[in-house]
This record gives sequence, structure tokens and C-alpha cells, in this order.
Amino acid sequence: METVVKPIMHSFAKIIQSPMQSFDEFNISDQLRYAIDDLGYTTPTPIQSRAFPIVMSGKDVVGIAQTGTGKTFAYMLPILQTLKFSKEKHPRVLIIVPTRELVVQAVEEIEKFSKYLSVRAIGVYGGTNINVQKAAVAEGQDIVVATPGRLYDLVLSRALSLKQIKKLVIDEVDVMLDLGFRFQLTNIFDLLPKNRQNIMFSATMTNDIEELINSFFTGTIKISVALSGTPLENIEQNSYQVTNFYTKANLLIHLLKNTEAFNKVLVFVSNKKSADRLFETLQEQYNDEICVIHSNKTQNYRLRSIRQFDEGKNRILVTTDVMARGLDLVEISHVVNFDTPRYPENYMHRIGRTGRAEKKGKSLLFFTDKELYYKTSIESLMKMEIPQLEFPEEVELSKRLTPDEQPVIKERDNPHKQVQGEERGESFHEKSDKNLRTNQGGAYQRIIKAKYKKPKTRGDKNYNKRNKKK
Ligand code: AMP
Repeated sequence: METVVKPIMHSFAKIIQSPMQSFDEFNISDQLRYAIDDLGYTTPTPIQSRAFPIVMSGKDVVGIAQTGTGKTFAYMLPILQTLKFSKEKHPRVLIIVPTRELVVQAVEEIEKFSKYLSVRAIGVYGGTNINVQKAAVAEGQDIVVATPGRLYDLVLSRALSLKQIKKLVIDEVDVMLDLGFRFQLTNIFDLLPKNRQNIMFSATMTNDIEELINSFFTGTIKISVALSGTPLENIEQNSYQVTNFYTKANLLIHLLKNTEAFNKVLVFVSNKKSADRLFETLQEQYNDEICVIHSNKTQNYRLRSIRQFDEGKNRILVTTDVMARGLDLVEISHVVNFDTPRYPENYMHRIGRTGRAEKKGKSLLFFTDKELYYKTSIESLMKMEIPQLEFPEEVELSKRLTPDEQPVIKERDNPHKQVQGEERGESFHEKSDKNLRTNQGGAYQRIIKAKYKKPKTRGDKNYNKRNKKK
């Protein structure tokens, strides 16, 4: 594993530091050290080395790391180190995760890490009796691990107070947003004290995450653990420069004709819309061989698609980055990056799906002019160039554009367009009588007013009745 520390965008703070190589450098309490020894951990993982000083410093941080990199301990170790014993009833640390299973897993981990500490931790999640959880919360807790929905219910019913929260951890942010928890998360942000540290973890970086971070946090430091554990030399990487989406589809259709070489193809796209669009386009030719997974598909549909692909019944699987998470697919012949990932780590995660277990794998990257910049970022992360193949002559160049590719029409030279704030000049002719009229209000009311000498409204039957009685 190689660690990379760099800012996501200019609004993100940059930090340069050398990673800590040993737990001795962490300067942690004896109690934590005993727990580490019991667990048999000898050296910190890269994400732990990187995260420890930043989390200790109190700064906001987003860690890009997959499950299995030791990320739970990466945030728990500094949190436990700073969490002083307290009789405070309300929790001081809140950890939000997307699923019940992850709540249970995180609580179990915390229990192991805090074996020699006096820390109260509880997991709360939906689908179980809320009253039992209310009673447990009422006993007083230091750390609450929760799914967003149940957390919100507990806070609204006043069973749980978030006013003492000093540290907020959001784990698996990409899954969280993909499952549609954005609204719930922002609701929870509103209930939290402003003065708190935000610690986030995600396996992939997405536009949605960046948007969330830019909207709610400032000066967030990004730590990234690139999966260079995947031996790059096992993967033959190539790229094609392609003009647009439908030409990319034509190229893919062409390549897939070689069924022998392209016998198990994982195609990555960046979002659900592109996944569906590509699926439909490929269906015409490869109907019986293709399946698609993204978060709008039902769990059953996704499981069936993955099984059929893994068993070889379907040759082609179209997927988004988040959905392909944790899938242990064997012997993928090709990973096709149908679009160029904006975040180079995602490219590493994608191509790491092939070339596993000493097998040779192939990866292709399709990039447009606009995506060239992202390709360069990927190349600088890998410290190598991705060779470019010649675009096959027999592939038709499509002129069809997706809605995203359509040019935005800016009426820069429209002489009739009135610029905001610009005053209209006088008309160069006399206005006709019709155009000289000014708006007097509703014609009906004026006619009635003229007739009855008092304002009357249509349908005011009571007015007439009232006046009759008088
Ligand atoms: P996670 O990425 O948090 O899901 O952790 C993956 C696994 O790595 C868990 O089973 C941890 O117990 C284990 N682990 C975490 N930190 C270390 C370490 N420093 N050395 C060895 N194993 C670790």
C-alpha cells in the first residue's frame, strides 16, 4: 500500500507529513497499547499512520480507504486516546454508518479497542425495538454508533441528545449518499453543535461527496490510501481517445465482438444514468450477455446480476463505482473504464478488479477531450503513462449527444436580448392608442364599479344579501 496525501480541491487544506511507522510514535496510553498487543497488531496500517496525527489535531478530515485497510481503528485510536473519562450522560462521539451490520461491527471493534478503558458505547439501528434502545441510551453513553434513520428518530423523540457531540464520524460516506441518506445526514448536521470535529471515510471519492464536504465543512484534509497493493505489473493498461458517449458505446460494441479475449468484462461508469443509458445501448446487440447494477436496482436484481456474471452466464457487467464495492469477482478478463474517473483512486479501485491472485488482467480507459485532465491525474498517481491505442477505423463515429454533452446555448450575440439592468431607450415612433393604454386592473371590476358606484366582487353573494337586509 502506498499513501497519498493531497487536497481534493483548492478549498481543502493541504498537509504534508511523514507517516508514523510504529505504534510507539503514536504516544498513546498504556491501556490502548495493551489492547493493541492483545489484538496482535504490530505496525500501524498506512491509513492509521496518516489519520492519527490529523484526527488528534482536531481538524476535519476525509479518508479515502476501503474496508480492510484498518480504517475503523484509524479513527477510533485517536478518538479513544482523547476521550477522557466522564460521567456525562450525553454522548460525546457520534459514529454514523449506512447499515445495521456495520453498526454491530463497529461496536464490536470499539469494545475490543477499549478493553482496558472505561468507555460506554452503544449501537442503535432501525428494525429493532426503539424502546429498548431508548432505555439503553438513557443509561448514559460516551459513543453512539448509529444508522441515520434510527438516530434521527431517537433525537426527535428526545431520547437522545446530541448537544455534547464533539466528534462526528461518518463512515462509508459514498454508500451513505448512494443509498439516498444525504437529506437525513444534513438534518442531523443541523442538530449537532457547530463546534465539533468531522471525520469522514469513504472507499471512493465522488462528486456528491465533494459537494457535501464543500457545502458543510471547511478546511477538510484529504488522506488517501491508493490501492497500489494491486500489482500494477499484472495489469496491461491501455486507453482510447473517443469523442463522445455514443462513440464510446460503438467502440465497446466493436471490442466485445471478440468473445474469446473479452470473456468477462466489467464496465465502469460514474453514475446510474450512464449505466442505464449504456445498458440500453448495448442491449440491442448483447441482450443475453449483459447485466447492470446500480443503487436504483432492487437488492434481488443486483444479486442475480452479480451471480450470473460471476458464474459466466453473462459476459458483461455494467456497474457504478459504489456498487462494485467488495465484490470478489474472479478472473475478470477486462475492466473497461467507460468514463475516466474524476478521482484517480477510483481508477485504482476499478482496475484492481482484474489482475488478481497473480492472474494477468487487462484494463481499458476511454477518455474524451474533457476527460484528458483526469487521465493525467491518474497517470501522475501511478507515476506511469497509460499507452494509447489507435481508434479502430471500422468503428463509427457517432454524432448523437447525451443531454450532458449537448452544448449549453449562450445567447451572447442576440441583439434582442435585454441585459439585466440595461435601460430601454425610447421608441422611435408614436405609440398607437391601443399601446398607450395603461393597466387599470380587472375590467369586470371597473365595469361593476362604474355601474354600482361601489366595489363589488364576482360571486360575493353575501354582500348583496347584507345590503338587502339593511
Ligand atoms: P477495517 O478496514 O477497519 O474493516 O479493518 C480490517 C481488519 O484489519 C480488521 O479485522 C482489523 O481488526 C484489522 N486491523 C486493523 N488495524 C490493524 C493493524 N494495525 N494490524 C493488523 N490488523 C489490523
